[in-house]
Amino acid sequence: MQEKGTISIHTENIFPIIKKFLYSDNEIFLRELVSNAVDATQKVKRLATLGQYSGDLGDLTVEVSFDKDKKTITVTDKGIGMTAEEVKKYINQIAFSGATEFVEKFKDAKDANEIIGKFGLGFYSAFMVAHRVDIQTLSYQEGAEPAKWTCDGSTEFEIGPGDRKERGTEITLHINEDSEEFLDKWKIQQILDKYCKFLPVPIKFETKTESVEDGKDDEGKPKYKSVEVDNIINTTEPLWTKSPNELKDEDYLNFYKELYPMSEDPLFWIHLNVDYPFNLTGVLYFPKVKNEFELQRNKIKLFSRQVFITDEVKDIVPEFLMLLHGVIDSPDIPLNVSRSFLQSDSNVKKINNYITKKVADKLGELYKKDRKGFEEKWNDVGLFVKYGMISEEKFYEKGKDFALLKNTAGEFFTLDEYQEKVKANQTDKDGQTIFLYSTDAAKQDAFIQSANKKDYDVLVMDSPIDSHFINHLEQKLEKTSLKRVDADVADKLIKKDEGPENVLTEDQTKQVKEIFEKAIDNQNFSVEVEGLSPEELPVTITMEEFMRRMKDMAQTGGGG
Ligand code: ADP
Ligand code: MG
Repeated sequence: MQEKGTISIHTENIFPIIKKFLYSDNEIFLRELVSNAVDATQKVKRLATLGQYSGDLGDLTVEVSFDKDKKTITVTDKGIGMTAEEVKKYINQIAFSGATEFVEKFKDAKDANEIIGKFGLGFYSAFMVAHRVDIQTLSYQEGAEPAKWTCDGSTEFEIGPGDRKERGTEITLHINEDSEEFLDKWKIQQILDKYCKFLPVPIKFETKTESVEDGKDDEGKPKYKSVEVDNIINTTEPLWTKSPNELKDEDYLNFYKELYPMSEDPLFWIHLNVDYPFNLTGVLYFPKVKNEFELQRNKIKLFSRQVFITDEVKDIVPEFLMLLHGVIDSPDIPLNVSRSFLQSDSNVKKINNYITKKVADKLGELYKKDRKGFEEKWNDVGLFVKYGMISEEKFYEKGKDFALLKNTAGEFFTLDEYQEKVKANQTDKDGQTIFLYSTDAAKQDAFIQSANKKDYDVLVMDSPIDSHFINHLEQKLEKTSLKRVDADVADKLIKKDEGPENVLTEDQTKQVKEIFEKAIDNQNFSVEVEGLSPEELPVTITMEEFMRRMKDMAQTGGGG
């Protein structure tokens, strides 16, 4: 006999689970509450614009405050507020109706953001740090009565008439014992700085002292006095939300300083601005770096409608561009973005492609507009371009037109230009064009000079990424190989018919070759017997180019 039934799940379990599971980044409770306050404020502004709210908007500043003695943190807004009915609908139902589903699914969630996103629990993240939460709210609607809601983290709540006189919502968290670290000015300031620095509505946290002019002294010099002013923690119209044509270079440089106070000025930047097929704005900076070991990843900040989400932008930004700095803002990336979301979302893939294309286009444009200037920046830019060309086929296709090669005389060439330049003189008997390069111009000076004497050109390839770039170019460029300028390589370029006669018979050549090979007894070296006139070296022993590069790469730890 079969029996049917429903698995019963106790909703009381939900809060312990939320608390425990979200524990690692519980500081995001403040981001969630402040962004709700900002949403409510934006809504009332919109209603006013649409003529659906005719009251006075007044000062819309959101305020965050705390009371160490009472152990509370409060977020207050003058947004749309809620009626008692709306509190029941938006605050109660969301969490409680989803409880069964939540308990079933929470185990699949990978991080706190994912839980919040999946279950619309932004507000409930307050219970990560609070044992009780109070809401006092007054709706914008005419004749609305203030409402008060209290919940102690169990499934029971109280709702009744409230005391709020002003339109908007005040949410008070009674901080639990484990979370008292949040009852600290610097801690709160730091969290607000991290997540709320660019929110579109002013956010006040405490006051600060400013010195202002206060009349003149007897000598006519200005006098100053200290005054307490509101400490507004955010910039409501950050640079990336403005139109590029109203911005000067100085604005971009100042914004860079704001983001990375200790850094040198960037080389240049790209203002991203797209509204179809997805929404994205942002500014990406090419940092000035001395070498790749200095490069830091994860310096790009990801925002969703000006709320900071994360600086782990993997998947949104192509791997090779993670070395860039700056901000990306897309409402198409939900606030509660999670890693598994990023990997599966098709918008993310599109955004990634868009950024790659945009960066390539910008570089191409800089190159076309001002080749000299581009050459001057090449030392710094080259690293990104080479890295990009190696790691992204799409980027290679664009990069090959502006990637530059530099020779020992300090001249720059594109790949095409260089091939054109050396083809006639540096093509061997098999039709392979040989690009000679030096990895250390000082040490290899003798070889470079002897190559130059024969009218061979030598490139400078002395940065750790170059060994990878050389390999890549060899795969990409047809009938071209790149060889380090060693004695033998330059010699080999002499076309066979121009070379001296071989005075040995074929048999004798073979014997000589075998004698040398036996003596060396190492597969990494190859022996060649050729061109035996008295002045020429009869035998050359070379370490295979490939083997040598492998060794180089091993020494630079793989580079890249
Ligand atoms: P989300 O913000 O993703 O909708 P939340 O759990 O953060 O989810 O909030 C649930 C709902 O509660 C909001 O959609 C909104 O309707 C309401 N709400 C929360 N905070 C406020 C507030 N400060 N003012 C007005 N309504 C709010
Ligand atoms: Mg929310």
